[in-house]
Amino acid sequence: MTEVVPGTQDGVLVRFADGRQETFDLVIGADGAWSRVRPAVSSATPHYTGVTAVEASLDDVDTRHPDVGRLIGDGSMAVYGVNRALVAQRNSGGHVKVFAQFRAPLDWHTNLDRHMGLNRRAGTDAGLDVGLDLADVEAVRSSLLALFDGWATPVLDLLRHGTAFVHRPLYVLPVSHTWAHVPGVTLLGDAAHLMPPLGVGANLAMLEGAELAESVAAAPGPDDLDEAVRAFEEQMWARAGRWAKITTAGLERLVSPDPTEALALFDEVQSS
Ligand SMILES: Cc1cc2nc3c(=O)[nH]c(=O)nc-3n(C[C@H](O)[C@H](O)[C@H](O)COP(=O)(O)OP(=O)(O)OC[C@H]3O[C@@H](n4cnc5c(N)ncnc54)[C@H](O)[C@@H]3O)c2cc1C
Repeated sequence: MTEVVPGTQDGVLVRFADGRQETFDLVIGADGAWSRVRPAVSSATPHYTGVTAVEASLDDVDTRHPDVGRLIGDGSMAVYGVNRALVAQRNSGGHVKVFAQFRAPLDWHTNLDRHMGLNRRAGTDAGLDVGLDLADVEAVRSSLLALFDGWATPVLDLLRHGTAFVHRPLYVLPVSHTWAHVPGVTLLGDAAHLMPPLGVGANLAMLEGAELAESVAAAPGPDDLDEAVRAFEEQMWARAGRWAKITTAGLERLVSPDPTEALALFDEVQSS
């Protein structure tokens, strides 16, 4: 699907990449951060938060890296420093996701010395305009180790043993993103409210999918479809707006020049 055109005589027109096109009564944009449906209802586009995450994976952690497995425990662990954080999350089947997060310009990897001061720290030639090939696993690993230089060995083992590095600059939509209702088109999930990844986005997307399905199923007839979608949108906007504010403030504090902000945030969340 490449484009959605509302308001045609036969309904909402959807154009597909292979040249086909078709009209529908209702088009639901559940197509993520870079939604192709969103332009049909809103001119908002995601912007960079100033924080990048590089994701790594560890498999069979309890067998292959038992010390790392013990460090993470049954849930997740996080370590916070100045403008950077290392977070490890246990998934099922001994799989662990590691997120190295840091404040950096979007193009940080194009010049490690200028943007990150990394070549000097890594002990290579100072002042060289050296870029990082994000597809080069060992180069990414050694740049991350340089970025987290001085951190405790057991924590750095998360990066030393990590595989499958994925570069994820964190983008968000404006907080409390809404739009003037457009008959026959709606959005849900990241397409509607992309926010910092602090454990909410997937849950909201699933809940909204279920709520929209219930609203549509409960509509007495085709003429009531639009009202059902409007009601769904109002409910989604109110809840997602609250979470967008919480997660935006959370990211500011979790990847912060003052790491005590991260600890204070955890204290606040746990006491509530
Ligand atoms: C590093 C990281 C960690 C996260 N951790 C958590 C967490 O612990 N808990 C949590 O709740 N959330 C977490 N999230 C957020 C969560 O991943 C998202 O909020 C969630 O995936 C949004 O779901 P969605 O269905 O809206 O979009 P997506 O998961 O992005 O799904 C959109 C789908 O649409 C498809 N698509 C896109 N364009 C088109 C097109 N033109 N035609 C057809 N299909 C298309 C895509 O291929 C994709 O399958 C995290 C995010 C990141 C980046």
